[in-house]
Amino acid sequence: MKILVPVKRVVDYNVKVRVKADSSGVDIANVKMSMNPFCEIAIEEAVRLREKGVATEVIAVSAGLLQCQETLRNAMAIGADRAILIETDVELQPLAVAKLLKAIVDKEQPGLVILGKQAIDDDANQTGQMLSALLGWGQATFASKVEVSGDTATVTREVDGGLETISLKLPAIITTDLRLNEPRYATLPNIMKAKKKQLDNVKPADLGVDVTPRLTTLKVEEPPKRRGGVKVADVAALMDKLKNEAKVI
Ligand code: AMP
Repeated sequence: MKILVPVKRVVDYNVKVRVKADSSGVDIANVKMSMNPFCEIAIEEAVRLREKGVATEVIAVSAGLLQCQETLRNAMAIGADRAILIETDVELQPLAVAKLLKAIVDKEQPGLVILGKQAIDDDANQTGQMLSALLGWGQATFASKVEVSGDTATVTREVDGGLETISLKLPAIITTDLRLNEPRYATLPNIMKAKKKQLDNVKPADLGVDVTPRLTTLKVEEPPKRRGGVKVADVAALMDKLKNEAKVI
């Protein structure tokens, strides 16, 4: 069984992004980019399933600029066997990504697609769900434990009230939550090996997918600055402020 793992190149989680002066988006010029952390967890899980003998091949796929090759090399250094770049300089929205991934799934016929639950740049949390709908496959989102036996996956999901365990028939979609695993570090020998692994390059047109954006960003704003606190003289003054200024009691 093949496992397909879509990985997104995003602004590194340690970077504090700045909103552009015209509020049209965030400034990513000269900013450090990395693999989306939830995608790293997805690659790790797929590699573990291959190491257990459940999967035979792990294929990483990324859609975006040519620089996504770095992200794919990183995925192969963690342990993916080969990679596919869907190269485009159009700004991709989740529906377009899901359509591109569907075309790759049709070609590669994986038994499982493991995605991150969300990308930390757009926080969309949509791609896995849309891909599941386009394929007509079952999906287990926010996975914190995955077990595969035969043509069945048993997935524990992190839900509001605790944990839910579900069973689904393969082929299926899984999206990863933070506690699923702790991704390994890519060692230097594995980084070197990854340079030699197969990395194919296709364009959205080769896959017959129109990636024209459907949504327009109207404006992006910084969160409001926190205001400083004040010291009050005594409990009476505090009560007065809570009642008459904050009006919370
Ligand atoms: P999102 O729906 O944008 O929050 O992203 C959820 C997941 O979809 C990510 O963790 C990736 O696994 C996958 N994904 C989103 N965008 C891309 C992309 N451009 N290339 C590859 N995978 C992507």
